[in-house]
Amino acid sequence: MASIFTKIINGEIPCHKVAETDDFLAFLDINPNAWGHTLCIPKKEVDRLFDLDEDTYNGLMSFSRKVALAIEKVVSCNRVGVAVVGLEVPHAHVHLIPIDSMTDMDFKNNKARSQKEFAALASEIASQF
Ligand code: AMP
Repeated sequence: MASIFTKIINGEIPCHKVAETDDFLAFLDINPNAWGHTLCIPKKEVDRLFDLDEDTYNGLMSFSRKVALAIEKVVSCNRVGVAVVGLEVPHAHVHLIPIDSMTDMDFKNNKARSQKEFAALASEIASQF
């Protein structure tokens, strides 16, 4: 069965898109640890990050870097933290989380706001990508 992220790639489930290339997609996390929390995924569905072929892995990291630089231009933060977990969604993804302290990395946080605010933030980051 297709992962929820493959459904997002195929447009079957909506997302607040931040950036897209032929091979990768970035969108806002629906349940952000901190405001601006973004997920970067390969369009190729592979569960574990380190099972990606080397080109896709390197491409995902390079794409994530560009997205992080765009996030930093829009979201006030000390830096963008990076996490890879994958226990909830079995489709490799990089969490980019704007942080001022370690508590901003906490997956128990819920910094969600209205759909309107998500849409506005996604479009601002997209304009810097
Ligand atoms: P994990 O697999 O543990 O790395 O976490 C998966 C992440 O995906 C969590 O931070 C969720 O909030 C996020 N997530 C799950 N479904 C969606 C969705 N439909 N749109 C955006 N983010 C999602």
